[in-house]
Amino acid sequence: MADLHVTPAGDRIAHDTRGECVCGPTQTPVPTDDGTVRFLAVHHSPDGREYGAG
Ligand SMILES: [Zn+2]
Repeated sequence: MADLHVTPAGDRIAHDTRGECVCGPTQTPVPTDDGTVRFLAVHHSPDGREYGAG
């Protein structure tokens, strides 16, 4: 489970930062100074929706 989240600013959909998000975030392992690895979830905006498509 990801500890850190990056979500698109001003996105129209609600991103779930507690469970499975609908955008299918990319999870990237991030080593920390104390030797543990945390997971960074990079969220994606829906393709084209916020650019006036449709
Ligand atoms: Zn998301």
